[in-house]
Amino acid sequence: MYDLIIIGAGPAGLYAATCAAMNKIKAAIIESSSEYGGQLTLYREKTIYDMPGFARINANDLANNLYLQYKEYEDEVPLYMNTQATGVEEHEHFYILHTNQGIFRTKTILLANGGGMFQPKKLEIPKAEKMINVHYFIKDTSILKDKDVVVLGGGDSAVDWALTLVGIAKSVTLVHRRHDFRAHQHNVEHARKKLNVMTPYVAKDVTGDFTASELILEHIETKELVAIKTDAILVFYGVSPVKSKMDQWLVDVKDNSIMVSPNMQTSRNGIYAVGNSVFYEGKLRMIVTALGEAATAIGAITKFFYPEKTLTYKH
Ligand SMILES: Cc1cc2nc3c(=O)[nH]c(=O)nc-3n(C[C@H](O)[C@H](O)[C@H](O)COP(=O)(O)OP(=O)(O)OC[C@H]3O[C@@H](n4cnc5c(N)ncnc54)[C@H](O)[C@@H]3O)c2cc1C
Repeated sequence: MYDLIIIGAGPAGLYAATCAAMNKIKAAIIESSSEYGGQLTLYREKTIYDMPGFARINANDLANNLYLQYKEYEDEVPLYMNTQATGVEEHEHFYILHTNQGIFRTKTILLANGGGMFQPKKLEIPKAEKMINVHYFIKDTSILKDKDVVVLGGGDSAVDWALTLVGIAKSVTLVHRRHDFRAHQHNVEHARKKLNVMTPYVAKDVTGDFTASELILEHIETKELVAIKTDAILVFYGVSPVKSKMDQWLVDVKDNSIMVSPNMQTSRNGIYAVGNSVFYEGKLRMIVTALGEAATAIGAITKFFYPEKTLTYKH
């Protein structure tokens, strides 16, 4: 039984997880997509000018910094990726949170689910949907041992995974539609030395029935087609948002936003909400307010469990 489950690993959820760990709350965080950072992943290259303490910071770097700060505590507060909360059941003194990966029992819940859920962008080849060796996330790299693997995408996830698989897979081919990658240049240079990098190519078709055996690529400029043999295709095209309905959480909503009191408690005892999903008079949909609300909510949840505790700074 957890004391707290945090739904969403956007800025609000990641920072709430850090604060929960600092306050020694037995918590976990779940995220529906395979990437942390929430909306920051939609504008990775954009510069943010309104983060306190930074004259300017790139959204990708802010997402990574929030994650690295949380990662200091990942043993105390685990993060379950690809885990989508689907509904809440109230019991006496606890909740059962339903997810696509099973249930969590928890005494309190923090909704940090933002404007909606993020899901991996799919390969635009209808036939590929049924294929068991087309993956959008990998839980266990041993399934790729000694396999010919093709990784599709140009961001950090694609490049990092391709590099991770060197030495595990028999061969790794990284395919991207542009000559330039969005990923960290150091890792891109490393990838160009260590594995087969094909640019500018786009995936056009697959052969096979339920298992892809060949991937057909089209050269973006010459339109020439090439077929490469493969045992597994890993797709990292980023994520896209899916708007959530807020009325599934047993809490009062207004205009599809969750109503909260000044300590971020919803209309239901033990369920709190922060960030872009909430409404109160004067609410601003910004990162700085989402982070402040996360600290307020964790303060209130800490008081809920330890009414005697005086909240102080970490020394
Ligand atoms: C183009 C653009 C530019 C922006 N620029 C700025 C800026 O310069 N400065 C600024 O302050 N703000 C900016 N913002 C707004 C800022 O990004 C948001 O205010 C901030 O991301 C809100 O954080 P959040 O954690 O509340 O929600 P989100 O970032 O939306 O994160 C929510 C997370 O919850 C997950 N989730 C949702 N539902 C579920 C579920 N059922 N189960 C599990 N996980 C779930 C989602 O996948 C997501 O990862 C910008 C927004 C956009 C779109």
